[in-house]
Amino acid sequence: MRSLETAAATDKGRVRSRNEDAYWVGECAFGVADGMGGHLAGDVASATALLPVQALDGKVFPDAPSAQAALLDAILAANAAVVRKAANEPSLYGMGTTLTATLVEGRRLHVAHVGDSRAYLLRDDTFTQLTRDHTLVAHLIEEGQITKEEAAVHPQRSIITRAIGVDVDLDVDTLTIELQDEDQILLCSDGLTNPLSDEEIRGVLTAGLDAQGAAQRLVDLANDHGGPDNITVVLIRYHEDGARNGQVRTMLIRPDDSQRVAQGDWAESLGRMGKLTPGGGRPTDFDESRQGRLARRLVIAVAVAVVVLALFTAGGWWLLSRSFFVGLDGDVVTIYRGVPAAVGPVELSWVAEHTGLEASELPPWFVTRLREGIAAADLADARKIAQSAPRREPSADASPPADSSPADGIPGATPLQ
Ligand code: MG
Repeated sequence: MRSLETAAATDKGRVRSRNEDAYWVGECAFGVADGMGGHLAGDVASATALLPVQALDGKVFPDAPSAQAALLDAILAANAAVVRKAANEPSLYGMGTTLTATLVEGRRLHVAHVGDSRAYLLRDDTFTQLTRDHTLVAHLIEEGQITKEEAAVHPQRSIITRAIGVDVDLDVDTLTIELQDEDQILLCSDGLTNPLSDEEIRGVLTAGLDAQGAAQRLVDLANDHGGPDNITVVLIRYHEDGARNGQVRTMLIRPDDSQRVAQGDWAESLGRMGKLTPGGGRPTDFDESRQGRLARRLVIAVAVAVVVLALFTAGGWWLLSRSFFVGLDGDVVTIYRGVPAAVGPVELSWVAEHTGLEASELPPWFVTRLREGIAAADLADARKIAQSAPRREPSADASPPADSSPADGIPGATPLQ
């Protein structure tokens, strides 16, 4: 007989004032979502995205392909629901979330993933990351442009390249593995993996703690390392013999980690937490706290100083010419060489090419990002960013069809007033 031993823990960490992470632990479906956006938007995004995952629980699948297809459909439904909410409610413009979800079907584990939350497998003593981060720095590492160590301190390490809720079209990574007795599956937000190394995480999972003890220990350890972000952990242990009776917890955790809300009640809870106000849209960037912005400005100032030094010492224009970003030239989306900064009257960038795309065609949050400049790895990457820019929804007709999201049938899907 097979059984699952499951546990979860979440905490807002030591820096953030709110917890925008959410998770779902059901009987066979599990998920972690790390929301982003101003005011309550990040909370709404992460909770909305988990509803279709929650809806998978209790379903029976005849075979592996149908289970995997159902999980993929849930992710796409989550995306449609978040996109629609963001389009219909001005205060939610720009909200988005990561979503890493798993479905256990017999002896198989199906994984679907968007963003930089992660799924890991611990088998025997081998700890393997199952998912690939959809981040700018992961892309730069894959291209061989920076090392893992450089990525850890990269000023744009918080920029994700794929998220739920940003665009109607979405690429989802999927994976299926055959489970073995005593496998441990860990889902977590980047609030765990940024401050802790894989080795530290593996150490906790192999320390002989019960599942809940291990989950809580991971959160505590991330806080001991400064707790720079919201931390969320879901732990699933797979047993073939069923000797350890799986403790199945069915709970949707809402942003304030002191609040544990029974399924379906989260919107009511959010409604009590305050009124949504317009103008909360934020770019696809997780580091949106005031501290994060100040830190980023400081890093940019230091980076500019370094660049200026390079200009006067070692042919810095060559260095600048190798850097690209996407910004605005008047109202036209434009690819620049250099960096989006100036030293006194000297701009450290110049136009590489105009794209012909107008700012008026784009959603306001994306225009805000363009004004700040969106870094690109190279010219091809910059063109890709421009080509894949989200377009402003011309009317309600452009929203996904109403029946595309199972979240709609759930009380939580009602737009908040
Ligand atoms: Mg995070």
